[in-house]
Amino acid sequence: MARRKLLMGNWKMNKTSAEAKEFAVAAKPLAKEARAAHVDLGVAPTYLSLATTRKYAAKTMIVAAQNCHFKESGAYTGEVSIPMLKEFGINWVILGHSERRAYDNETSEKCNAKIKALIANDMVPLYCVGETLAEFEAGRTKEVVGEQVRKGLEGLSEEDAKNLVVAYEPVWSIGTGKNASTEIAQDVCHFIRTVLKECVGKSANKIRILYGGSVKPENIKAYLSCPDVDGALVGGASLKIESYTELLRNIK
Ligand code: PEP
Repeated sequence: MARRKLLMGNWKMNKTSAEAKEFAVAAKPLAKEARAAHVDLGVAPTYLSLATTRKYAAKTMIVAAQNCHFKESGAYTGEVSIPMLKEFGINWVILGHSERRAYDNETSEKCNAKIKALIANDMVPLYCVGETLAEFEAGRTKEVVGEQVRKGLEGLSEEDAKNLVVAYEPVWSIGTGKNASTEIAQDVCHFIRTVLKECVGKSANKIRILYGGSVKPENIKAYLSCPDVDGALVGGASLKIESYTELLRNIK
């Protein structure tokens, strides 16, 4: 069965609620085009804009959170739990983004706890992996990415993993304009699928693997033509409705 393509925007710490609403309203006409092209659209706003984006995006887009806590409630100042997200109709969560790994001590072990909690709540984890520039230059990409995938998915069954999404984001290409070549993207995404097979068996063929790192309207098509790349996780180029629209149109 063919995997549906996915265009997911990561808005990071950008957009007020009013700006998120403006985007969501402007994105509505894209629903028909996306459906016709068999592409799922999504954006990940900040926590404070989730409810507004969910409301105005209606069925046009998946609306994902950029993080969550694995506990349902408790003494975790500054955190947001899965039931709190669910209450607002949020069913997707990005985990393990390299910025959170670098600045917020988000480890693969923590991601594993969050992935399990999300799956137990019938939600979709979008799990990010990727190597730093030093690791890339030392030829350690597969060692690092393989470990992140194995630790993140530890203890998951074939059934658990069927809705999981993985994003390969080489840290050296995020927000830098330095793209990984399509050869690198395909090679690492194929490797990730091999590791997924080891971890969760046949579900590996259903799991969508995204490439992320300086994806722009000009290069998205090349990435999406790689057999193991099922979509893109896009930061900068997902912020303006014009370039988001171009990203969608250039996937087709
Ligand atoms: C990201 O934040 O996940 C990302 C890929 O950013 P950018 O597209 O700006 O490189």
